Amino acid sequence: METIPLSLYIHFPWCKKKCPYCDFNSLEIQSDTSVSEYVSVLESDLKSELVNEKRKKLVSIFLGGGTPSLIPGSELNVLFRIIANEFELLNTEITIEANPGSSEFSNFYDYKLFGINRLSIGAQTFNERTLKKLGRIHNSSDIKNAFDLARRAHFNNINIDIMYGLPNQTISEAIDDLEKTIALDPEHISWYELTLEPNTVFFKNPPKVPSDVRKERMFELGKEKLLAAGYHQYEISAYAKPGNQSKHNTNYWEFGDYLGIGAGAHGKLTKANIVNRTKKTRNPKDYLKNRHSIVKKVDPEELVIEFLMNALRLIDGFELSLFEKRCHQHRSNLKPFLLRALEKNLIEVKRDRVTPTKKGSLFLNELVLLA
Ligand code: SF4
Repeated sequence: METIPLSLYIHFPWCKKKCPYCDFNSLEIQSDTSVSEYVSVLESDLKSELVNEKRKKLVSIFLGGGTPSLIPGSELNVLFRIIANEFELLNTEITIEANPGSSEFSNFYDYKLFGINRLSIGAQTFNERTLKKLGRIHNSSDIKNAFDLARRAHFNNINIDIMYGLPNQTISEAIDDLEKTIALDPEHISWYELTLEPNTVFFKNPPKVPSDVRKERMFELGKEKLLAAGYHQYEISAYAKPGNQSKHNTNYWEFGDYLGIGAGAHGKLTKANIVNRTKKTRNPKDYLKNRHSIVKKVDPEELVIEFLMNALRLIDGFELSLFEKRCHQHRSNLKPFLLRALEKNLIEVKRDRVTPTKKGSLFLNELVLLA
């Protein structure tokens, strides 16, 4: 039986300032926030998660947030020693998220020493007016400075996050953002649409965003630009130079397993063909006192929906053998869904491979509802 690939997600729940569109588990860092205390709790959290984990290989590690690059490099020493003692880290992709415009970039050299080999920079846009509207603390030259500093620290695998469909954004502004991103020549670009999520300031007081027709046009033109610049689209919002697809996100989309540590971190773990979702206490103060996980078994119907929701994000879709390995069900269970989706021209099936059509990728939620 194939071992399900395992990743590790580490959550850092603070940022310098909360952005009005952000629904991640992130709070504004306070003068009395102890990063050292939090990192030492992460160490114990990881140790207790490892008690029941037999797998010794990690596909990827992702330090996300929040702004994990607010952690001084020296603070990560013990955590990375525990990881290196427990796991074989051969070809493991290790990413840290960073935001431009903060002193946290002085840590880049240290991160590299700990084996962090990928940096994800949250640029979002180069447009000064829109950066202000998004509540970001950086300006466009901070993005370039951050990128240059990362290259000087010998990061040769860098992602830049860029959004479109931003408040009052024109089509040419959206394309201009991509041109500026491409000019930096990162290995990976995540180009995704702004969504107004519940529990955010933007949800309560929505800004004026471009119409759906305009956003569709931005998407089509932007995609053309990215493809022409040598980036390959492998997921709805992810574009990579050859060989630089994100291993961490790909493991999520291929429905692999992951350990989640840190405040509010989610995990997915498979044992004896049973899939469990895990979730840590969301509030950082509570997490410092109690780092136990809530564990919930995923029932077989839910499992199929979750699998499809992830795997159909991939432009190349999935093989039916992957469905069998991850959901522990025979492929015939998927047949009614496949027939319904084929009839609506939302997927294609060739041999064992199920691929979303262009319409299927655009209407992913509707497609998965057919299951
Ligand atoms: S910097 Fe990122 S994680 Fe922090 S509040 Fe802004 S969008 Fe959220």
